[in-house]
Amino acid sequence: MQLENKVAVVTGSSSGIGRSIALAFAREGAAVTVDYRGHPDEAKKVAEEVEGSGGRALVVRADVSKPEDVEGLIRETAREFGRLDIMVNNAGIEEKMPFLETPFEVYERVLAVNLGGAWLGCQEAARRMVEQGEGGRIINVSSVHEERPMPDNSPYCAAKGGLRMLMRTIAVELAPHGITVNNIAPGAIETPINENLNENPEQMEELLSEIPLGRMGRPEEVAELALYLASGAASYVTGSTFYIDGGMMRQAGSL
Ligand code: NAD
Repeated sequence: MQLENKVAVVTGSSSGIGRSIALAFAREGAAVTVDYRGHPDEAKKVAEEVEGSGGRALVVRADVSKPEDVEGLIRETAREFGRLDIMVNNAGIEEKMPFLETPFEVYERVLAVNLGGAWLGCQEAARRMVEQGEGGRIINVSSVHEERPMPDNSPYCAAKGGLRMLMRTIAVELAPHGITVNNIAPGAIETPINENLNENPEQMEELLSEIPLGRMGRPEEVAELALYLASGAASYVTGSTFYIDGGMMRQAGSL
């Protein structure tokens, strides 16, 4: 078991990638806090799955865009499990529309969750880890769009690009405390955030043509990378982005 006696928080873990990360961490022995915003039943199901296989889980409702909620998330975790070792900032939203038509409120909403939420998660978790004095692991789920432009998705790209520099900067700042900070940058993964693609075969075909491995990824595959970064095997890894994208970032046309 790679995470025995460790305590982890995974934001937005009632579905998709977050859910798979919570389950993988629990499988490896970590006690896990399942954070959700809108779907208590799904969050409860994840916790039941963890407990059903002999693990420990806590369900907390916290909107990551709200400082008091994130503070409560870390406080409740420490109260229940006594400590915090691994923080995964995974919660995210997308609102796609052309830049020229994007209202400022949409920009603010997307930034507040995807970048603000990760900022708050990193800060609250790091404060707790520094207090404990035994280091820790922070993993942010960003996106290939921390690097790769996506027309009609400017708030999302701005947020994920910001998350890249947040990670790099605090990795340096937190290193003296033994806290590592890394980003996972998924390409196209089969989760609820991409549900609309199933109803749009043309878009799906275009997307798959951009992926050298020729298929979307599965949330379980992303979870294995998160597990590596959380485990003892990654003790010397900090300040980096890890792409998991079927080769999308290296895609080259035939002309
Ligand atoms: P998802 O929609 O299943 O997961 C996002 C989760 O975040 C949901 O559970 C949602 O309820 C939660 N959430 C949203 N706003 C929140 C808030 N304010 N507070 C707390 N929780 C909130 O989709 P997913 O694909 O699993 O997305 C997880 C992360 O992966 C996101 O950050 C997303 O940007 C990133 N990502 C996904 C893909 C992909 O192709 N699926 C690709 C690149 C990056």
